[in-house]
Amino acid sequence: MAKPVLIIGGGPAGLSAASALTSVGREVVLVEKEDQLGGAPIISGYAKLVPSGEWARDAIGGMVERVQQSERIDVRRSLSIQSFDGGPGAFTATLSNGATVDASAAILCTGFTHFDSVNKPEWGFGTFPDVVTTTQVEQMISGGGGVRCPSDGRAPKRVAILLCVGSRDRQIGREWCSKVCCTVSSNLAMEIREELPDCHVYIYYMDIRTFGLYEDLYYWRSQEEYKVKYIKARIAEVTSNGEKLIVKGEDTLVKRPITIPFDLVVHAIGMDPNIDNMLLSSIFDVKLQKHGHIERGNSYSAISGTSRPGVFVAGAATGPETIDDSIAQGQAAALAALAVDNVPLAAE
Ligand SMILES: Cc1cc2nc3c(=O)[nH]c(=O)nc-3n(C[C@H](O)[C@H](O)[C@H](O)COP(=O)(O)OP(=O)(O)OC[C@H]3O[C@@H](n4cnc5c(N)ncnc54)[C@H](O)[C@@H]3O)c2cc1C
Ligand code: SF4
Repeated sequence: MAKPVLIIGGGPAGLSAASALTSVGREVVLVEKEDQLGGAPIISGYAKLVPSGEWARDAIGGMVERVQQSERIDVRRSLSIQSFDGGPGAFTATLSNGATVDASAAILCTGFTHFDSVNKPEWGFGTFPDVVTTTQVEQMISGGGGVRCPSDGRAPKRVAILLCVGSRDRQIGREWCSKVCCTVSSNLAMEIREELPDCHVYIYYMDIRTFGLYEDLYYWRSQEEYKVKYIKARIAEVTSNGEKLIVKGEDTLVKRPITIPFDLVVHAIGMDPNIDNMLLSSIFDVKLQKHGHIERGNSYSAISGTSRPGVFVAGAATGPETIDDSIAQGQAAALAALAVDNVPLAAE
């Protein structure tokens, strides 16, 4: 009988890989460092997801439930991998509690780390309590309390969402586009307008990347139906006059300085490489690409591969990814892991 497949990380990619493997009768050991499964959408309390509009707790919560109920998946929470030895078909991992796991293959589904906005101090996060991040706004909505100013709990009358915070910013070593934050921000802007119809919402952008079919559903709809205003600008700083937050910058279309007061300023934070990646790279002996994401094999013939045979990768561990792409990559990695030993499988 084939050894189980070891999956590291229980977010959308890892949950999808685990379910795909059990659907063809394969055993899985899933190691998650946090005390709950679900990855960023659950652990960070996302609200309604793009593009389905489903609550994260239902959509990803459903995936968690399926994994937790499967007899073929051995879930190990609050643990990490300390060492990983052997070769394809015969690996041994040692976990942080001293237990060992024999596995035929491993799939790294270790995701990303949210950009920490304190690394962009001139934009006010950490200085002014009413400068928050998109994840905080997601939590306000999913928590049921509505969007409020943290300083005094009032409903904001004017909200600015600043795009590309911790993405596309060479000055702080983050050259990549985080792919989903334009669309997530347009979606949040519509949610705010729906909850607070008298609140004016402005989105400050360099370029709008509501890619593919999202252009119509989010970019145009947010303007035409929800009256969200978009300002193409270079932001200099976020300060306060004691009463309001002040966003200063340059409107890059008319090339004039602009200074606008707001009650709440939201940083659309990007997706950093997982802070564990250096450690994961050394434990699993896999290469990282230049920004610190796990390097993928050939984009066409070995999309799930890493630099080490028998070790695969899926989802945001490889760079900014959406949930649906992470799920698809989890399934692709499961298929690649099955091909490692190609042992006849038991029926589910
Ligand atoms: C504010 C915000 C909103 C978003 N909203 C959407 C949206 O609406 N729709 C959409 O498609 N995408 C959205 N995304 C992107 C979405 O978060 C990612 O696509 C998705 O989380 C990637 O899934 P993943 O499983 O690859 O990684 P993750 O969700 O990051 O999961 C990785 C898992 O691995 C675990 N892990 C990490 N390191 C280790 C380790 N060393 N050992 C063991 N376990 C480990 C983590 O704890 C986590 O559970 C959003 C992103 C942001 C920043
Ligand atoms: S998706 Fe939009 S907000 Fe996010 S990094 Fe790319 S351009 Fe900036």
